Amino acid sequence: MDLSVIVPVFNESEVLPQLRARLEPVLSSCTPDYEILFINDGSTDGTLPLLKTWAHQDKRIKIISLSRNFGKEAAVTAGLAAGSGRAVIILDADLQDPPELIHEFWKKFQEGYDNVYGVRENRSADSFLKRTSAQAFYKFYNRLSNSSIPYNAGDYRLLSRRAVNAVLALPERERFMKGLFSWVGYKSVAVPFTREKRAAGKTKWSYWKLWNFALNGLTASTTLPLKLWTYFGLVISAASFLFAAWTAYKKIVFGNPVSGYTSIMVAILFFSGVQLISLGVIGEYLSHIFHEVKQRPAYFIDEKINL
Ligand code: UDP
Ligand code: MG
Repeated sequence: MDLSVIVPVFNESEVLPQLRARLEPVLSSCTPDYEILFINDGSTDGTLPLLKTWAHQDKRIKIISLSRNFGKEAAVTAGLAAGSGRAVIILDADLQDPPELIHEFWKKFQEGYDNVYGVRENRSADSFLKRTSAQAFYKFYNRLSNSSIPYNAGDYRLLSRRAVNAVLALPERERFMKGLFSWVGYKSVAVPFTREKRAAGKTKWSYWKLWNFALNGLTASTTLPLKLWTYFGLVISAASFLFAAWTAYKKIVFGNPVSGYTSIMVAILFFSGVQLISLGVIGEYLSHIFHEVKQRPAYFIDEKINL
């Protein structure tokens, strides 16, 4: 098999016909030896029946149906594990990732690149809030983590067989794919494209989900937020030592006129806040450990078709 295309789908019946119409000509112009692997992530609309009729018409259309909705990261992992191509492409179903770009991806793959990723040149299709928060996240992530993810790179990419195997060899349960793709390394190249608006259907991401996604991604990739507190504590201890010496000196020289309600309140409130934040950070990491030690599989497969 030359080329596997992995498409995670969750309630995408509206957009799937358009996707197929645009995707198949592109793939057959690259190689006749391709497969399109749809990962049905617990859809509750007509997605699965539609995919099944396609799979009966064309053996190159394959389906893995998960036992419930596990989220995109798990669906992509299931696809990577099942695809058998020398090159594997990850593609959103909603046509925000233009399938025509696969020509370019394929060319770069022939040139010997292992990780060819699309970079959104222009995010005007996204709302202002989504754009700026994404920008801030990339900046913050790259500053903290030791393998940086390219600005505005999404999941839309082509991976060579060895890059796919490397990603699959990472055993973690909480899979922040963008971070994993860049962590494994290999020869990478960016291909710029303009991200279009969703062709049909609606987004599965709320801001609350995105925030948690970002937080999980960050804490899964770096332990810096955890270690920061040592230095913060050192600075505060040094400062309080000086302050203690000064208060003791004042007491000895001037006696102890009762005052200091304000300073005591400020100190108590400030440090309880700081301690709660640091506990929260520890909690984030503890929750990762909790999920990892349970060693649950990232997904369960309900049925496979044409595989
Ligand atoms: N998706 C999925 N499982 C989910 C949520 C989304 O498989 O729980 C798929 C969805 O069908 C689509 C892709 O992931 O193919 C990207 O989702 P979406 O377009 O909603 O995200 P956005 O582009 O708004 O970030
Ligand atoms: Mg989308």
